[in-house]
Amino acid sequence: DSRDFDEEVQSICPFCGVGCQVSLKLKDGKVKYVEGLNGPANEGRLCVKGRFGYDYIHHPHRLTKPLIRLEGVEKGLNVDPANPFTHFREASWEEALDFAAGGMARLRDSEGGESVAGFGSAKCTNEEAYLFQKLIRQGFGHNNVDHCTRLCHASSVAALMENVGSGAVTATFNEIENADVAIVIGANPIENHPVAATFFKQFTKRGGKLIVLDPRAQSLKRFATHLLQFRPGADVPLLNAMMCVIVEEGLYDQDYIDGFTENWEVEKQHLAGFAPETLEDLTGVDAASIRAAARDFATAERGMIFWGMGVSQHIHGTDNSRCLINLALMTGNVGKPGTGLHPLRGQNNVQGASDAGLIPMFLPDYRDVTDDGVRSAFTEIWQSGDFSAQKGLTVTEIMDAIHDDRIKSMYILGENPAMSDPDVTHARDALAKLEHLVVQDIFLTETANYADVILPAAAFYEKNGTVTNTNRQVQMGRAAATPPGEAREDWQITIDLAQRLGLDWNYSHPSEIFAEMKLGMASLDNITWDRLEVENAVTYPSLSPEDPGQSIVFGDGFPRESGRARFTPASVIPPDEQPDAEYPMVLTTGRQLEHWHTGSMTRRSRVLDAVEPQANCSLHPSTLRKLGVEAGGSVRLATRRGEITLMARADRAVSPDMVFLPFAYVEAAANILTNPALDPYGKIPEFKFAAVKVTAA
Ligand code: SF4
Repeated sequence: DSRDFDEEVQSICPFCGVGCQVSLKLKDGKVKYVEGLNGPANEGRLCVKGRFGYDYIHHPHRLTKPLIRLEGVEKGLNVDPANPFTHFREASWEEALDFAAGGMARLRDSEGGESVAGFGSAKCTNEEAYLFQKLIRQGFGHNNVDHCTRLCHASSVAALMENVGSGAVTATFNEIENADVAIVIGANPIENHPVAATFFKQFTKRGGKLIVLDPRAQSLKRFATHLLQFRPGADVPLLNAMMCVIVEEGLYDQDYIDGFTENWEVEKQHLAGFAPETLEDLTGVDAASIRAAARDFATAERGMIFWGMGVSQHIHGTDNSRCLINLALMTGNVGKPGTGLHPLRGQNNVQGASDAGLIPMFLPDYRDVTDDGVRSAFTEIWQSGDFSAQKGLTVTEIMDAIHDDRIKSMYILGENPAMSDPDVTHARDALAKLEHLVVQDIFLTETANYADVILPAAAFYEKNGTVTNTNRQVQMGRAAATPPGEAREDWQITIDLAQRLGLDWNYSHPSEIFAEMKLGMASLDNITWDRLEVENAVTYPSLSPEDPGQSIVFGDGFPRESGRARFTPASVIPPDEQPDAEYPMVLTTGRQLEHWHTGSMTRRSRVLDAVEPQANCSLHPSTLRKLGVEAGGSVRLATRRGEITLMARADRAVSPDMVFLPFAYVEAAANILTNPALDPYGKIPEFKFAAVKVTAA
């Protein structure tokens, strides 16, 4: 009986930032099936990943023993998939930890602390993220520590910090229940935040107006009052055109602007140059449609704005988010029920890992590393000496620094830059060049293939710890299964390395780490480990030990020096590379419902891999006809950085000059093609736009 179980454990889905609470049903110590719990974000619902994407934890290729690279074996991906471990030998934990810490210490002592960098993970708990950034800062004296938020919403956070004073959402996504209108731009929640999407659908069912802005006519369009399918990269002119209409037609909220904002007159003047009639060619959207959508948003009583990586992953990603903030502010749509700004977070703990300081410019709670007072507050908590006042290097800058011989060793926990970085050949060459690479993970990932030493870690369902979802809900994750073989929880491994690096760390349980985090993180006020054990989730900010947390913030002002939010005008910056005669189409990358990021977990989940087993891209049927390729046939995609060959699907959601490419498949790795050009503020790469040539293969 598949419903037969002998134990139940409550935890959190390990995939997306929705943070669905799950009930894991176990039989003989193994997860047999998963059901949704009545958590604040999911209210009992789960998507296919949450429901079926659990059995990777029992996969035979789990890392079960520490591994050390065999002498003389070259680093790289050219391993036999049937015998993936042949380039490594098994080692004891003592030997592997000594080797890992010893290599980092040798380079720290001979070349300086800056020669060692770290990537932590949004797949780990808050406590593990906190310890990881502390290790790099305390153990090596600098801030060269980052994680996949850099590739996700770094530009959104930059714009929110600048103009609102906080990088987190101003309202939970569930608040859409109280909205009259909602914009979803550059996000495909039906595939990427599926349970959040169910709330969006309910909103339209009761008459809410949904405005979908996207270069792809993605599946949410079926629920939309307006679909504005704009040209890739034309976000700023489109949004400025909508705001220009609101100014022209006097639809802005002057009382809100006067009471809560600054710099409005500058923004108002700036928008005068964006009449939609003058921008039809640039945006690809007719002026009447822009005007109609703008009117519906501005005249509604309560409006929300949701966005995803279609907004953030551009060299103008920060400007895109500035526009969305401006739009919400000018219409008075922050701080009240049914209003808010909500960048939909990707990984299940990307919010929490960022809050915990796993970023090169901020300590926990986004406190500035360049501020002497902030650093001394943390060195007091940590009872250690000062560390660098310089902002550290970001994910992509670290790869460049390896090529420049400035970084020689890395500690990578749960990240897979050999698949996830833009222009991944450049990243793989960097990993191969490192003198010393320590990888801590649950599988022999593509990145682990470049490691000198691999430390086997527990999967999410094998450990205890807190995670924070897109809604600012801090939730309790609980261990359901025992890690295989000798694999251990990440926080324990990081502590063992720290002790070998000379740090006096003694934590015996994640609750002790959480207690230390609270000393430097006001966001966790009134949220305790014991409380989470009982309540499972508390939203921050929580105003008292009884308060379940505030789902809406900034009703009475903003956490900026002036107490006001700021309008920052955004000008049009074209994508970094334009299509030309040689590369005439536009490539955009993203995820699919069944696979998660680089596929390391979902491609090892039996059901998910069966549903979506093959590398694929999406092209318009007319494009396939021109190429002479049947749907299901092979195409070659080439950019200035490389080429891949894979199966093509016919998909009317993409325009005829565009190709959509998921990035989960190592055999046709999307990031061989992507452009590493960075947004200057958020330092996020332009994953969403590259000039590409498509040919029949
Ligand atoms: Fe997991 Fe996200 Fe699906 Fe919820 S919506 S079950 S958190 S992948």
